[in-house]
Amino acid sequence: MKILVINSGSSSLKYQLIDMERESVLAKGNCERIGIAHSNFIYKAHGQTIEQEVDMPNHNVAVKLVLDKLCDKKVGVIASMKEIDGVGHRVVASGEAFKKPTLVTPESMVLMEKIKDLAPLHNPAAIVGVNACLAAMPKTPMVLVFDTGFHFTMPDYAYMYAIDYAHYEKYKIRRYGAHGTSHKFVAQEAATYLKKNIEDLKIITCHLGNGSSITAIKGGKCIDTSMGFTPLAGVPMGTRSGDIDYSAAEFLAKKEGMDVSEMLNYLNKKCGVLGVSGVSSDFRDLSDAAEKGNYRAELALNMFTYGAKKYIGAYSAALNGVDVIVFTAGIGENDDVVRSKTLSELDYLGVKLDEGKNKKCPRGQIAEIQAADSKVKILVIPTNEELVIARETMHEAKLG
Ligand code: ADP
Repeated sequence: MKILVINSGSSSLKYQLIDMERESVLAKGNCERIGIAHSNFIYKAHGQTIEQEVDMPNHNVAVKLVLDKLCDKKVGVIASMKEIDGVGHRVVASGEAFKKPTLVTPESMVLMEKIKDLAPLHNPAAIVGVNACLAAMPKTPMVLVFDTGFHFTMPDYAYMYAIDYAHYEKYKIRRYGAHGTSHKFVAQEAATYLKKNIEDLKIITCHLGNGSSITAIKGGKCIDTSMGFTPLAGVPMGTRSGDIDYSAAEFLAKKEGMDVSEMLNYLNKKCGVLGVSGVSSDFRDLSDAAEKGNYRAELALNMFTYGAKKYIGAYSAALNGVDVIVFTAGIGENDDVVRSKTLSELDYLGVKLDEGKNKKCPRGQIAEIQAADSKVKILVIPTNEELVIARETMHEAKLG
């Protein structure tokens, strides 16, 4: 059983072909700068990386290139396209139109068209990606897997915004969250690793990467999450502001002569730790700068870890306690200083880190880093969103 996972951006298409018997990646890569001069095609298989400048005027050409490479006699991993049993497509936003992974059909694609404007940069790209794959593989079952899907178990009082209820009903404005596949994956991994039934656990998962979100999971189900209607809300991020008083945004927009779109672009791309530090959105650069005494880099790091700590506190309250805290994604998996600062002075919750284990945490595998007398387990777990998409695709398309 082989599943192709596709993650389409407006000018990119990331892909992975996964062998589901072993849940191992056969080949993966990225088509970059689609529709832009000097498109770049990256293909990784058999431990080798091929990078080529190839003309990719649109997503159809990109998909064809991917399939040709996968079936290539020399560097390919399959004999023909027929070996691809299903295709899973990552979709960023679902609105309330889709509450679970959904088979690609003419009807579901009509619904997809209707929710384009929920994620104007990402959802139209996903539609383009699906259509490109359909053109190349019209008979292969395909499934839409939504970043928001895992969060639909939130109770109404957690997902509602305190706005006029009529506006919620009319426009479905509410908290949807994001990174759902990642939160779901690491929560399940945590339960398996601890040899516990997920039904019995209260877990807080911290997906800390370029975009960061924190989720409260009770009995395997999301009960709250830090991102909102879009991924702009929550902790400060690489370039996103996270939670902010909207009046401050209006005040600034008036002072700087920005319209609403310009303001949102600013909040999404020029704020976060990049805006505060003036150094970088990358936490490695921030740590280097902070070590050299850069006050604003240190401030940005402190704001980030304090923000994460506050969500852990809030979600411990929402969950009525916490059994496991999980760190994942680029920063969560790699930055021991962020983990240490985030978890400092949480002893009232029974959270105690083993600083030695935290520092020596091995890359790319599950690590347990709490102190012997910590009441709460602290785990570092590599995320694997593509694998979740592949699993959901198999399940929804009734494959295997
Ligand atoms: P995305 O949200 O784009 O998927 P990732 O999960 O890949 O992001 O996280 C990217 C971020 O992870 C980088 O911006 C960087 O700040 C951070 N990161 C990656 N490796 C390290 C590392 N070794 N130490 C600290 N931070 C790291």
